[in-house]
Amino acid sequence: MKSIDRARQLVILSGKGGTGKTSLCAAFAHLSSQPAYALPTVFVDADVDAANLSLVLKPEPSPPHEFLGGVLAEINPDLCTACGACVPVCRYDAILPDARRESVYWIDPIACDGCAACSYACPTGAIRMVQQQEGLWYQSITPFGTLFHAELFPGRENSGKLVTLIKQYARLWADDSHAPVVIIDGPPGIGCPVISACAGADLALIVAESTLSGVHDLKRIVQTTTHFRIPTLVVINKADIYPEGVTQIQSVCRELGIALIGQIPFDRTVTDAMVAGEPVTVYRREAPSSRAFSAIWEIVFDRLITPGGTHDRS
Ligand code: SF4
Ligand code: SF4
Repeated sequence: MKSIDRARQLVILSGKGGTGKTSLCAAFAHLSSQPAYALPTVFVDADVDAANLSLVLKPEPSPPHEFLGGVLAEINPDLCTACGACVPVCRYDAILPDARRESVYWIDPIACDGCAACSYACPTGAIRMVQQQEGLWYQSITPFGTLFHAELFPGRENSGKLVTLIKQYARLWADDSHAPVVIIDGPPGIGCPVISACAGADLALIVAESTLSGVHDLKRIVQTTTHFRIPTLVVINKADIYPEGVTQIQSVCRELGIALIGQIPFDRTVTDAMVAGEPVTVYRREAPSSRAFSAIWEIVFDRLITPGGTHDRS
């Protein structure tokens, strides 16, 4: 293996969920641990709203760490004189008369945005800003390397902040353990957590689906990686179910100057492997999808370690 100065970050993306991104990521995790590569790789499941890479990589149990996100205002009823000064400054109408104690106000935690304007307006110091626990994150040992993953609590915000946090820990861990590669299973879509997953990435691999919406989703996510100037590669999953879609994706890639580096056939083995809780390359190495994943991994690995290399198999 060539020596590199710092861990390279690969982010695996798709314009929407269910394209096979996590199956690909799990296969990469397994392949990166094989003797031909023997990489002490670090993995990040950046889909903190619905993390599932751990279901396939099967980490050893590890203690959770608190994720403290934003702040919300809270009124101390013992200090509140019910002067009402805080009510008009709240642009979110979050400060309401307390129906249980008519002489004071309370703050609706769902409506509060945490702006702190009310705490400055309160003449008695009755309002304090309280940091909220919004999720948990884990550093876990898997048979293939170290996995950083997290879960955002239902209805909570700051998913992008949580992604940034676990990526920072993963990066530090990679530096300390001289791991040359960090593989990030990105969230679906193009929203805030996707931007966080992309930050600092050396290479993006987009999993596109050969469907009508797949072509549309591909264009949107390519706009995102292009905006952040991340070198981008594309693979097509379930390529044989809609050949016309493949033609369209090839055309989009040519138009945008992006390398299409592989096509993965529809293969029920992928589902069987998921049900068994294993990367498909472990479950059945000779399956058509496993062979496709292996070929794609070779190209991606080479590109990660040798930035600037291009492989276009379209
Ligand atoms: S912190 Fe801001 S949003 Fe929340 S109650 Fe106070 S003024 Fe309203
Ligand atoms: S400004 Fe302070 S004292 Fe006045 S109603 Fe609001 S919380 Fe109570």
